[in-house]
Amino acid sequence: SGARVRRASNKRLPEYLERGVDVKFTDVAGLGKIRLELEEIVKFFTHGEMYRRRGVKIPGGILLCGPPGVGKTLLAKAVAGEAGVNFFSISASQFVEIYVGVGASRVRALYQEARENAPSVVFIDELDAVGRERGLIKGSGGQERDATLNQLLVSLDGFEGRGEVITIASTNRPDILDPALVRPGRFDRKIFIPKPGLIGRMEILQVHARKKPMAEDLDYMAVASMTDGMVGAELANIVEIAAINMMRDGRTELTTDDLLQAAQIEERGMLDRKDRSLETWRQVAINEAAMAVVAVNFPDMKNIEFLTINPRAGRELGYVRVKMDHIKFKEGMLSRQSILDHITVQFAPRAADELWYGEDQLSTIWAETSDNARSAARSLVLGGLSDKHHGLNNFWVADRINDIDVEALRILNMCYERAKEILGRNRTLMDEVVEKLVQKKSLTKQEFFTLVELYGSSKPMPPSI
Ligand code: ADP
Repeated sequence: SGARVRRASNKRLPEYLERGVDVKFTDVAGLGKIRLELEEIVKFFTHGEMYRRRGVKIPGGILLCGPPGVGKTLLAKAVAGEAGVNFFSISASQFVEIYVGVGASRVRALYQEARENAPSVVFIDELDAVGRERGLIKGSGGQERDATLNQLLVSLDGFEGRGEVITIASTNRPDILDPALVRPGRFDRKIFIPKPGLIGRMEILQVHARKKPMAEDLDYMAVASMTDGMVGAELANIVEIAAINMMRDGRTELTTDDLLQAAQIEERGMLDRKDRSLETWRQVAINEAAMAVVAVNFPDMKNIEFLTINPRAGRELGYVRVKMDHIKFKEGMLSRQSILDHITVQFAPRAADELWYGEDQLSTIWAETSDNARSAARSLVLGGLSDKHHGLNNFWVADRINDIDVEALRILNMCYERAKEILGRNRTLMDEVVEKLVQKKSLTKQEFFTLVELYGSSKPMPPSI
């Protein structure tokens, strides 16, 4: 076909070239010591002669390994920017064409171009798309890919003046690469870029804030701590979303709240901007405040990251982000006590409704969390962790379904009373949190804990029910 001919003869690939890259290491944040390794790569360009004179071999290829969005592409660009060399990039998935021979000829053309414009960085994104171990893919697709991979190997080997063209490739799967690719002289250097930690996320937010009108007292730590698990690309997005919202509201400064809300949008989808009456806002605030106020009493749940009463898309009312010990949670190591605490927290909205609005006013606002409490209580009984046989043996089985329900109900009642007790002696704290929530719609970790310090009841909880 015509397309085939055109593609196959598309030898010059100017669209992959970037001259005068202006990305610098200061644009990439949260790298810690990894930065030193990359600075060395820059030296291969700037001090190449010195390396060669001393017989130090310059690597032909560097592999940046890590999940999507952590900044691998940005880093490769920063290397070119710092060294002041040209930057060629291509995604390896673009190599893999339907027509045999196209991928290989693209690789050849790319390297020819890079050499003509040396010194240069060749960046290959998603190397695993083409660099998967040979023979793993059967059929003509596999054949094509093998041809491309072979050409890549030839191109990597083909330089006399090493240091003039350095290839940087990114992959999330270094483990499945063809062994030939990682042999000495090819991609013989691996650099792992992990997801950023708390401090890393803070630094990344700060980098992206540089070009935006940020409020002077912006609490980057608050935003960093509620974006656990997010990567640079997502954090960059949060700053953009926040800026758009600021513009829309006709404001001139980005605040902590803007970023926190943007973080939620990034994480959970667009806000549902329903209008609510003041009374509804208050009711939701009581609901969310109650969970947080009860949760701070329990060791596994006191790590409250964030509170909001902003409505989400979907049916959620608000959102209290409690940070659990993930490892424990995943491995099912939560103790009986933590499960009881969890049930108590889930019942807090219902208990608060009773305390603040009275028994006959009970609404259905807490229906979802009460359901959570019920199912947790049932699994506690079924899982053999309830009091009834605690300390006996693992062979306890309910004779009838009824036994399970009776026991679950007993647990639920105890937890409910406990939630009421905690809320009852924290009325002032509740009122303060509710008022702030209604006023500001969201509270950061720090704002919440300041109120806990000021108004919380310090009476320690009994260790067990
Ligand atoms: P990857 O190549 O690892 O998938 P990218 O480099 O394409 O990730 O990241 C996409 C964007 O996310 C970058 O252009 C940048 O705006 C932002 N970003 C990612 N990581 C970082 C970081 N460590 N520091 C600053 N910004 C980052």
